[in-house]
Amino acid sequence: MKLAIIGECMIELSNSEGELYQLNYGGDTLNTAIYLSRCGGEVEYVTALSDDVFSNKMLENWQSQGVGVKHVKQIANSVPGLYLIENEANGERHFHYWRSNSPAKFLLEQCPEIFKELEEYDALFLSGITLSIYSEASRAKLFEFLNKYRDKGGKVIFDNNYRPKSWLSLNEASKTFNQIMNLTDIALLSMEDEISLHGEHSIEYCIERWLKAGASEVVVKNGPNGILTANSMGKFEFDVPNVVKPIDTTAAGDSFNGAFLANKAKGESLEKCIRAGQFCAAQVILHKGAIVPREVTLIEE
Ligand code: AMP
Repeated sequence: MKLAIIGECMIELSNSEGELYQLNYGGDTLNTAIYLSRCGGEVEYVTALSDDVFSNKMLENWQSQGVGVKHVKQIANSVPGLYLIENEANGERHFHYWRSNSPAKFLLEQCPEIFKELEEYDALFLSGITLSIYSEASRAKLFEFLNKYRDKGGKVIFDNNYRPKSWLSLNEASKTFNQIMNLTDIALLSMEDEISLHGEHSIEYCIERWLKAGASEVVVKNGPNGILTANSMGKFEFDVPNVVKPIDTTAAGDSFNGAFLANKAKGESLEKCIRAGQFCAAQVILHKGAIVPREVTLIEE
């Protein structure tokens, strides 16, 4: 299965000591692409960057981690998005964003040739955060494309990552998430985000909604409490085999997705994909930061 991931990666500044900030690069979909590659899969990342020094460093970094960049557009005279993580003394983290003019936001408007390029893929992965960066007009174009793409046999894989701050209102977000639900083949969901978007409801009801909307496979991630999945064969429950005490839960869901999709692309069984995702996520949350050092083993022996 040839797979492309659509989203945005930003410059990340985090302060580990006083007013000294460390520079990294991060974003949910990019995290998934990196873990997918580290778990033995092949993937192209689809986004827009600037042509500045930071964007070029991002490109080098992604390539060195095995992530394909042939669809990354570089828009001159722009600056990439930036977020700053403020760590409070009590361990609480606050995120501040400077992304309203980032090139990724304008990808679908300024580089419409991207739609043609995406047709060559068997599956496209995107997240709720991907959708949040686009204008309503861009989203409409994307949904129109995905509709036709699915008609021709393409599969849409969606993670419902919901960040309230990135949306004008809950209403706008839940309306958009309902639109993509109707265009999704494989749903990789966080139960917490489903509840934030649509109010308190059970995992069973959540699964029913997505199946009814047309998904052929639904995977509901529920932290250390396990995973509930459904496909044409029925519903299946998976415990978390090795519950750990996390050091930093950043990218738990993203790394799960990466390992899951690396296995999915190879045609592995649902159980194998879930187990690979669980193993990878459990290693990632034992380390600080979204992207763990390269020597960490992410594939179960
Ligand atoms: P979440 O996005 O919180 O549902 O987490 C994504 C995945 O990370 C889960 O489906 C688990 O496989 C894994 N995970 C989360 N918390 C833990 C934990 N405490 N111990 C082991 N695995 C975990």
